[in-house]
Amino acid sequence: MSVTHYIDGKYTEESERKQALFNPATGEQSGEVSLASVAETEAAIASAKAAFPAWSEMSPLRRARVMFKFKALVEENIDELAALITKEHGKVLEDAKGELTRGLEVVEFACGIPHLLKGEMTEQIGSGIDAWSLNQPLGVVAGISPFNFPVMVPMWMFPIAIACGNTFVMKPSEKDPSSTLRIAELLTEAGLPDGVFNVVNGDKEAVDVLLTNPYVQAVSFVGSTPIAEYIYSTASAHGKRVQALGGAKNHMVVMPDADLDQAVAALMGAAYGSAGERCMAISVAVAVGNVADVLIEKLTPKVRELRVGNGVIEGMEMGPLVTKEHLSKVEGYVSKGVEEGADLLVDGRGIQGEGGDGYFLGGCLFDNVTPEMTIYRDEIFGPVLSVVRVPDYATAVKLINEHEFGNGTAIFTQNGDAARQFCHEIQVGMVGVNVPIPVPMAFHSFGGWKRSLFGSLHVHGPDGVRFYTRRKAITARWPTGLRANADFIMPTMK
Ligand code: NAD
Repeated sequence: MSVTHYIDGKYTEESERKQALFNPATGEQSGEVSLASVAETEAAIASAKAAFPAWSEMSPLRRARVMFKFKALVEENIDELAALITKEHGKVLEDAKGELTRGLEVVEFACGIPHLLKGEMTEQIGSGIDAWSLNQPLGVVAGISPFNFPVMVPMWMFPIAIACGNTFVMKPSEKDPSSTLRIAELLTEAGLPDGVFNVVNGDKEAVDVLLTNPYVQAVSFVGSTPIAEYIYSTASAHGKRVQALGGAKNHMVVMPDADLDQAVAALMGAAYGSAGERCMAISVAVAVGNVADVLIEKLTPKVRELRVGNGVIEGMEMGPLVTKEHLSKVEGYVSKGVEEGADLLVDGRGIQGEGGDGYFLGGCLFDNVTPEMTIYRDEIFGPVLSVVRVPDYATAVKLINEHEFGNGTAIFTQNGDAARQFCHEIQVGMVGVNVPIPVPMAFHSFGGWKRSLFGSLHVHGPDGVRFYTRRKAITARWPTGLRANADFIMPTMK
């Protein structure tokens, strides 16, 4: 299978440069993806630029109707889309469907764009004068997404962007591009005019064009922190609006009064679901006071019993890691943890996954992890959970607030006062109270703090509409203007 680009409503020829695609559950090559050249990326931008005038002039209601049709088409094709995600990413099928459902919620939000685009109005702001504001689209905008949510993360971006009247160039991860391309086909089928949504596959060469081309007005990026910093600084230096979401190290505080069965169930899903390859995965359990021994006792057998295998087999809880290189990197972290003195209670290295010889790693569990250890500081992005023991609530909060990342966090407790204070003082963008993965729904906005987000606006929800529009404030007076003489002093409202 040869995966090319989708420009102006159709697939392109293959590029000169290509990269192999693999099924991570079997390790077999499934095809090749074209890597766009500068000229191919410029062609996608040119197509989006040409489509902008007509699309942006179309009424918001008509644009919303395309979104409604698109939503129905994604629902009709959900099994096929989930299978494409599992084949290239590795996550289990049900999890792939969950990703599609969370993405569709943003499409549903974008269906309400006629309401969301409304500005504000003040009649008679001065005598005979009215004032109002408009929210207008920016023009051509670009999205660059990571491998771990090949449909959901693009859907954090393009439904709102195009519903607002922009045209879009999407650069998905070169590791699992096929589901994003299928989405592009479904948009065309839903009646989206050619050129409004384009997909270029590629690497730094394509990305650099998106960051510097003068026709691109805004860049939305989701990926690792070093690349997010590069995206933010480069695109900002070229005058673009940028939001760049980066990496994470999410802590879950387990207070002594927590319901431990509930906390353990939450930790299992949040640490090991999707093989830990989620930016909102919990990778550190902060055990407060005397809770650690019981927590470990309950967790250990569950981690050992995780069902790991090909995501197409029913009942699997964890699929493989995305690539061979990523597997070695995560295994390297496990070795480093042992070297640095953490207690490895469950070692998932070297396991055989069910139904394939791919890039499998079983669940790993560390106890007695301390803040100076590499496995505590770095984002591992694999099925590795570290337990840090702290004496009290204040130490837990200090630990989290001192970490460089601030994407998500959670507290498990039955005490309202502790929970309330935690929400108040924690330096993290998304907080869960007895909820391990507090990903906001589509009509709220998603974003972290500190080195987990560069830029001032979060994605989707109200911030998404703000990011993809610019505001215009209008003040108008109609003649009888003839009655007024020219003003030579600073105008004030009379
Ligand atoms: P990545 O940073 O390697 O890649 C992200 C995108 O950037 C891809 O499209 C890739 O092609 C492109 N890219 C990679 N190297 C580049 C370079 N040198 N120059 C320009 N572009 C480049 O991230 P990944 O491994 O695909 O995804 C995992 C990371 O994404 C994790 O760090 C995870 O925390 C993060 N993530 C964050 C969020 C969030 O909401 N904050 C959500 C999902 C994933």
